[in-house]
Amino acid sequence: MTTAQRYTTAQLRGLAEEAGRELENAPALDILRWAAETFGPRFCVTSSMEDAVVAHLASRAIPGVHVVFLDTGYHFPETIGTRDAVEAVMDVEVITLTPRQTVAQQDAQYGPKLHDRDPDLCCALRKVAPLEQGLKAYDAWATGLRRDESPTRANTPVVGWDDKREKVKVSPIARWTQADVDAYITEHGVLTNPLLSDGYTSVGCAPCTRRALEGEDARAGRWAGRGKNECGIHL
Ligand code: SF4
Repeated sequence: MTTAQRYTTAQLRGLAEEAGRELENAPALDILRWAAETFGPRFCVTSSMEDAVVAHLASRAIPGVHVVFLDTGYHFPETIGTRDAVEAVMDVEVITLTPRQTVAQQDAQYGPKLHDRDPDLCCALRKVAPLEQGLKAYDAWATGLRRDESPTRANTPVVGWDDKREKVKVSPIARWTQADVDAYITEHGVLTNPLLSDGYTSVGCAPCTRRALEGEDARAGRWAGRGKNECGIHL
């Protein structure tokens, strides 16, 4: 169920800028509680189902919160299994978004393995466009972005303004390190994608993800050798 917008775009931008300053040093749970109080049902959490840390934090702060998952049609079975397990054990409502075309329909129109020939277009069709559509029901969305993941994420604010979508973007664990994530997972017994125990440090679509090599940053196994390190959702 969605409700009418509470704020104008200018008000949303002002809220994002103010909260980004005031909540910079706040604990992740407090950031999520602020989002829930401010946006009510027009706030959601997105999850790639690499791990369920942000979904778990959000379920504690906002029981029943919407957790939005993009099913590109190219996920590892382990990722779909993690999504199903999150839905089964956490107090959240998983919302699965799908692209306009199935993989077979996309292959018919663009040719097979578009991900190898034009990954930017493939991501635009299978990730960016369905997310844009799905987020229309919300004024604010949370991500699991962390500053230590890669140089492109080093300046991620805990609350910022998503200019492209004109929404408030909340990254409650932006300041966390991998050690913080690991400690939270251990302390709370949080679900993780089994691939994280199999050499993968970042999990995306199967054709575009490999295990990370010694000394590489966490996202180096994504689109390796293709001159790309973000799908476009967070650009
Ligand atoms: S990550 Fe790869 S398979 Fe997935 S949408 Fe992007 S290009 Fe396509």
